[in-house]
Amino acid sequence: MMKTLLLQSDELETAAAILRNGGLVAMPTETVYGLAADALNGKAVAKIFAAKGRPMDNPLIVHIAELSQIKMLVREFPESARKLAEAFWPGPLTIILPKGDCIPDEVSAGLDTVAIRCPAHDTARRLIRLSSPLAAPSANLSGSPSPTTARHVMDDMNGRIDAVIDGGECRVGVESTVVTLATNPPRLLRPGGITLEQLREVLGEVVLDDAVLHPLQNGQQAASPGMKYKHYSPKANVILLKGTEEAFLRFVNARNDGTSAVLCYEEDKPELRLPYLSVGKAEDYETQANRLFSSLREADERGYHTVYAHCPETEGVGLAVYNRLIRAAGFEVKDLEK
Ligand code: AMP
Ligand code: MG
Repeated sequence: MMKTLLLQSDELETAAAILRNGGLVAMPTETVYGLAADALNGKAVAKIFAAKGRPMDNPLIVHIAELSQIKMLVREFPESARKLAEAFWPGPLTIILPKGDCIPDEVSAGLDTVAIRCPAHDTARRLIRLSSPLAAPSANLSGSPSPTTARHVMDDMNGRIDAVIDGGECRVGVESTVVTLATNPPRLLRPGGITLEQLREVLGEVVLDDAVLHPLQNGQQAASPGMKYKHYSPKANVILLKGTEEAFLRFVNARNDGTSAVLCYEEDKPELRLPYLSVGKAEDYETQANRLFSSLREADERGYHTVYAHCPETEGVGLAVYNRLIRAAGFEVKDLEK
């Protein structure tokens, strides 16, 4: 086991030196904490997969500090990419483009494309400037909820990586929106803080990939390999409930068995007769995204066996919350009207 350093945001020189030497550093971003390695060093990137237990066929996102860095990483930089970058970078949007020759196979997992993002987090961008473009998936053990604090990272990664930079709580709380420009029309592969509606305002037509809302059918190819895996799951069994507010309250209140809890909205609180974790108001999708993963981790810390949750709306950032929760629940939705 290696010793994992806990660094503060003013110790970036130490973090950059680790990265230049092929080590692993978890860094704060505005979405979730990322587990970073030098994106141009295949051996360093391979360590990310080992530390997380991540399947090797799941490609990584390369993080850059400014738009000018993208030119060396991609083979083509179309007008549509320039428009997206202008509208949403720095920010929670990942753009997939044909990959440049310098991208190691470990990053692209053998695909001929590469995913690029410019994060809107000062610490992350300063670290990139001091080192290099950084390949970084979420800094959790593969399959578990993504980390939104340095403590979450330590809970999963202590002894497995060189350092964690403590940058406080992440603002967005779910991973970036992923859109591919390698297909025509562009395709949304993963919803996040930048919404489908916002992408359509800039690009016109954008297709919602099937895998965002549904499990892949047997034999169906994953456009985004990450979406085929069960994901974001706490140890507790997560069950989504679909139906009216009355039906929801009646159902969960009948399950005050000491091992169950509810991922609820603020409005539910006065009516609940069992333990709960509130993710925010029913219509406040941003707050729900922000609290989702930390609530799932807290449910495990409190030792619940089952967590019931509302089946979220799919508009705006709600689509990102739905996409994560439905995977956390292994696509199990209980229709209370039936
Ligand atoms: P994570 O790093 O855990 O936030 O996951 C990155 C996501 O981006 C995964 O769902 C990957 O499958 C997806 N991704 C990364 N690179 C590509 C690519 N070149 N083509 C399609 N999807 C990608
Ligand atoms: Mg992840």
